[in-house]
Amino acid sequence: MQSLCVLLLACRGEIPPFDGALFADTGWEPKQVYAQLTTARRLGAQAGIPVRTVSNGNIRLDTLNPATRFVTMPLFVKNPDGSRGMARRQCTGDYKIRPLKKAIRDVLGYPHPQRVPRGVFVDQAIGISTDEFHRAKDSDVNYTRNVFPLLDLGMSRSDCLVYLREHGMGEVVKSSCIGCPYSGNSRLRLIRDTDPHAWADLIEFDEAIRHGSPRATAAGKPLRGQFYLHRSLRPLADVDLDATRGTPSAEEDDPDGCSPFSCRTGTPVSSPSPSTT
Ligand code: SF4
Repeated sequence: MQSLCVLLLACRGEIPPFDGALFADTGWEPKQVYAQLTTARRLGAQAGIPVRTVSNGNIRLDTLNPATRFVTMPLFVKNPDGSRGMARRQCTGDYKIRPLKKAIRDVLGYPHPQRVPRGVFVDQAIGISTDEFHRAKDSDVNYTRNVFPLLDLGMSRSDCLVYLREHGMGEVVKSSCIGCPYSGNSRLRLIRDTDPHAWADLIEFDEAIRHGSPRATAAGKPLRGQFYLHRSLRPLADVDLDATRGTPSAEEDDPDGCSPFSCRTGTPVSSPSPSTT
């Protein structure tokens, strides 16, 4: 949502223009996000800012494919003794940071494994609003320099919403995988109530990941415990998503979308392997 606001600001000439905008697509976003992407492409094209999608595969398909390594999404784990855990998250690094870095290297003309010479870099504008300023970080590579237009303009998340609405963007949906375990009940209800196909897909996925990696299971190394998408450690189909409606609760709450360089859950993002960065 904040990224869309930054793009719109650039398209309208309220901040310096960009040479391009990148959307890291995990292949499993809600249909509303893809509709927003289409709008972003149209606005960008009108302003001479190409909006490109970059990808490192489809997170849903890859997770269930026994021929590929298991994608480590931050799934909730019910351990054999009944205690709760959470799988280590590598998906943001693999599906967002890695393809973004690759695209930036390509733009600069130094694809991996070439060394990017000192002093050659892009300014990378990241949509972090004033209410989350503590998430603004320097880049971990020398070929990108992070800049934060919303912080420079003093814009909060609600300022962004107003700005987007004032310029015809209507209700903007957060970007995040349909099956992101960080989704709270409110987001899950939105998927259930607006996209029955995505909801059925989500229920099927939740059942399919219960015993861990299909590849490991086939190799005789099944997961000790069970994976769940929902923090209640119950099958998603059995969760009463309406029970928490309108009440502040852990189940209702969800972070504000998946941001590659500043995960709004507050949990650290695992960078992809240094050999590719
Ligand atoms: S939205 Fe969730 S599942 Fe998707 S990449 Fe981000 S953290 Fe991983």
